[in-house]
Amino acid sequence: MKIIQSVAALRAHLDGFRRPALVPTMGNLHEGHLALVRQAKPLGDVLVASIFVNRLQFLPHEDFDSYPRTLQADCDALQAAGCDVVFAPTEAELYPQPQTFKINPPSELTDLLEGHFRPGFFTGVCTVVMKLFACVQPRVAVFGQKDYQQLMVIRQMVQQFALPIEIVASPTLRAADGLALSSRNNYLSKKERLEAVQLSQALQTMARALQAGATDMARLEQEAMAALTARGWQPDYLCVRRRADLQAPAAAEVAALAQHAGLVVLGAAKLGKTRLIDNLEV
Ligand code: AMP
Repeated sequence: MKIIQSVAALRAHLDGFRRPALVPTMGNLHEGHLALVRQAKPLGDVLVASIFVNRLQFLPHEDFDSYPRTLQADCDALQAAGCDVVFAPTEAELYPQPQTFKINPPSELTDLLEGHFRPGFFTGVCTVVMKLFACVQPRVAVFGQKDYQQLMVIRQMVQQFALPIEIVASPTLRAADGLALSSRNNYLSKKERLEAVQLSQALQTMARALQAGATDMARLEQEAMAALTARGWQPDYLCVRRRADLQAPAAAEVAALAQHAGLVVLGAAKLGKTRLIDNLEV
């Protein structure tokens, strides 16, 4: 496995491959990331995993500085998972000048959910993903469903710019108790880690209610928010949305969408200082 820091060396190394597969990450890898790598491996003729903590997608008060950076352990895990190339550029390499050209995703995709609570987040994500696509020139890239809205934004970016890249979704990998794996789980204290499963449980409760025919979404959402708040969480949102566009379904269409795999429940909430997100398709 090659570990490459510069764009020039990456290009030189990938010259001759016809179908690079890319798994973009911010490092501090867990089994969820490695599942993406294993899924991507047979899809291309060379597998590149990128590791880059992207300053552009963090707000000033967020955890850019404290985000765990564990390059050596990440490389060991990637090698064991069958990765061929780790592209781990420095900030000076990926952003040699301030990145003033940016990709601005449309507000109908980003004014809601994560984009509402993290203004500018998807501009940062799209800009770095576009840049990683330019560096690696993959024919296929794998993203996790854990970041459901991100996956949708990237798919639409690729479609609207006619990028010749197939975007593949990978299901959310969970710990035994149901907590979605995340690098940010490392911030949780022992007590918080035991509590953290309540986010996925709240989403499951909402999903079960929808499957059982509930149509009062405002009530479902309020009850889920109240239940987490009562346990000491600070929820940003727990929402029922249409899978197709992440908009709130009309009351009249909820039952049909629930029966025909048309809904997703999404949640984001802070436990102590740690902000966790999760989602479940219904
Ligand atoms: P990150 O390093 O958090 O930027 O994540 C890199 C990629 O891994 C993204 O496509 C995420 O959606 C994906 N990912 C993160 N956690 C999980 C998980 N538990 N299951 C599946 N994919 C994940």
